[in-house]
Amino acid sequence: MSIGENTIALRKEIPEQLTLVAVSKTKSNEEIMEAYQSGQRVFGENKIQEMSAKYEALPKDIQWHMIGHVQSNKVKYMAPFVDLIHGVDRSKLLREIDKQALKNNRIIDCLLQIHIAQESTKFGFSESEITEALDLAGTLNNVRVVGLMGMATFTENTQQITEEFKGLKRLFDQLKPQQPQFSVLSMGMSGDYPLAIAQGSNMIRVGSKIFGARNY
Ligand SMILES: *Cc1c(COP(=O)(O)O)cnc(C)c1O
Repeated sequence: MSIGENTIALRKEIPEQLTLVAVSKTKSNEEIMEAYQSGQRVFGENKIQEMSAKYEALPKDIQWHMIGHVQSNKVKYMAPFVDLIHGVDRSKLLREIDKQALKNNRIIDCLLQIHIAQESTKFGFSESEITEALDLAGTLNNVRVVGLMGMATFTENTQQITEEFKGLKRLFDQLKPQQPQFSVLSMGMSGDYPLAIAQGSNMIRVGSKIFGARNY
């Protein structure tokens, strides 16, 4: 199947109100345009420079999501246009996003990345650090934390993945009463999005299932 057909098939398979982020990292502008022509408007990238180059070259009604680890000194390059930053994993980064958003006269939406996987390599806040980050975010006028993002362990064990997603949903539900702006729970990728949706995800980040395997 083509990229366009993959996009349409996936869109049909998932609930209508769920946001599909097409993860286009390493993929060419031509490949992105194939998904675009099939109606896709939300794309995710994990490198700020790559995302900025694509933003410059491609239609301006694309919403660009930064899904990767963010270096503070590069926030300024995406601050003029980024639609949602998924990978906020430390308080210092919130301050930098706020500063750059103010310079661009914008409010930038962010998700706190929560460490739910067993692997120690994945970035993110531990549950105990979140309150502090949300308290800080509450004092910043140009960032808005609209929800949470998490990545499950890379494993065949679907029960483990399900438990990790369930834990993130539980945390989201716990925090929401004090965070009325919370609306996004970003969890699920090509290998595990059905499990994530079953646990209450409303935003999935899917790359290889749409674009095919990545060649680095
Ligand atoms: C690459 C990436 C994805 C998409 O991965 P696929 O397995 O290709 O769907 C989703 N989320 C993050 C954070 C990623 O870096």
